[in-house]
Amino acid sequence: MSLRTKIVSLIIGTIALIQLAWGLSVVRSDAALLELEAQRRSRAILHAIAAPAAIHMASMKFETLDAVLEVYNRRSRGELAFKWIAILDMNGKVVSHTDPRQFGQVYTDVFTRRAMVSGRSLTNTIETDAGRKIQVSMPIHSGLRWGTIIGQTSLAGLDSRVIQNQWIVLISTLLIAMSTAILISTLLGRMVFLPLERFAQTSRSIGSGDFTSRADVPDTNDEMALLGHTLNEMADKVETQTIQLEAKVRTRTKELKAANSALEEANQNLANAVDELERLASTDGLTSLTNHRTFQERLAVEVRRSERSKSPLTILMIDVDHFKTYNDMHGHPAGDKVLVQVARIFEESLRNTDVVARYGGEEFAVLLIDTPLSFGAKVADKLRNSIRQTDFPGADQSQPNQRITISMGMAGWPIHGTTPAGLVEAADQALYDAKRAGRDQVKMYGGSKT
Ligand code: GH3
Ligand code: MG
Ligand code: MG
Repeated sequence: MSLRTKIVSLIIGTIALIQLAWGLSVVRSDAALLELEAQRRSRAILHAIAAPAAIHMASMKFETLDAVLEVYNRRSRGELAFKWIAILDMNGKVVSHTDPRQFGQVYTDVFTRRAMVSGRSLTNTIETDAGRKIQVSMPIHSGLRWGTIIGQTSLAGLDSRVIQNQWIVLISTLLIAMSTAILISTLLGRMVFLPLERFAQTSRSIGSGDFTSRADVPDTNDEMALLGHTLNEMADKVETQTIQLEAKVRTRTKELKAANSALEEANQNLANAVDELERLASTDGLTSLTNHRTFQERLAVEVRRSERSKSPLTILMIDVDHFKTYNDMHGHPAGDKVLVQVARIFEESLRNTDVVARYGGEEFAVLLIDTPLSFGAKVADKLRNSIRQTDFPGADQSQPNQRITISMGMAGWPIHGTTPAGLVEAADQALYDAKRAGRDQVKMYGGSKT
């Protein structure tokens, strides 16, 4: 049930109840007054009859009584007319009656007996199946008591009018209540519910994110206008705060983005530095070849890989011949240059997948991946020839055979060793053999010259 229905029902209910109670009480008191009036009029008529009736009865002219009754009965026409009037003698016998058939009857009912005994006029209201009736009695005197007049008036007409009036009250109450309901509902709608609905609509709009929405405030100076203004002021504040908040969020987002990109840049620099560190840690400073430690790691990895794939590995240990004499004659820096040049020649002569390292001093190590000894021997010879054919500055003066040469020891997995250390040791042994055999040559582990 809507608020409007509740309020209207409450007001209308109250008005209808008051109106109904008031209307019905008016009808009731009207009915009571009318009843009293009917009794008074009935007594007055019977009182008027009593005087001539006494005279006629005293002179025993009973036959003229009918005419007297007829005259007075005619006077009481209308709604409160007598149903009948009877003149009784002292024995209760009917000596005259508006209905001639009653003549001679003896009335013995309680009211008649009380009226005959009493010297006063009596009035009584009785309920019968045909409706309410008023009984009135009037004693007939003129010095002596001659008899009693009894009359009966019907209140049925009066009662039906009362019922009719009650209906009128009921219907008019209903009509008044309905028209009041329409009036109040319209007024409430215009003054209260329409503005309230508009305010609710505005609140919903603001709630769903439209902060520019404002209520249409009625041009009045009442609570409704106050509510509307308050709602709009609240909306103003919400809008301002939202704008400020959005601006703050934008600024913070920008700051965050800037901080993020600075962080990203710092991260990148750090990653570059780490890469550089890793590169420095894994390469030889002079020749930029893989250093001793990293060579050992690679060797271990490749041995494990070969164990899984069963593909062959060839390792070469290389040492520059009579390098001390070169250094002694041309100086250490010139010797460094030779080492760098030797490194370049090795790199250029090998595949990317092969590993070439500066093993220490003027010693180098080469790991030929997925390479059998037969092919490894060819590579080794190619390297030896490449160095031998290169003109190193001053080699003709310092070197015993006027050229820079290298000696190599060769070993293969799994024939000459199955562990990294075993392979190195075997290749070292072969290198020692090559040196002993006169240098500038390649020796395979086990003694054979390739
Ligand atoms: P061989 O190997 O044929 O027996 O004779 P060698 O003269 O090369 O032998 P040895 O091992 O006695 O000498 C190695 C020399 O290599 C000693 C040192 O002067 C030189 N050497 C080692 N490391 C470096 C280096 O980093 N730079 C330079 N310029 N020379 C180095
Ligand atoms: Mg050496
Ligand atoms: Mg040497």
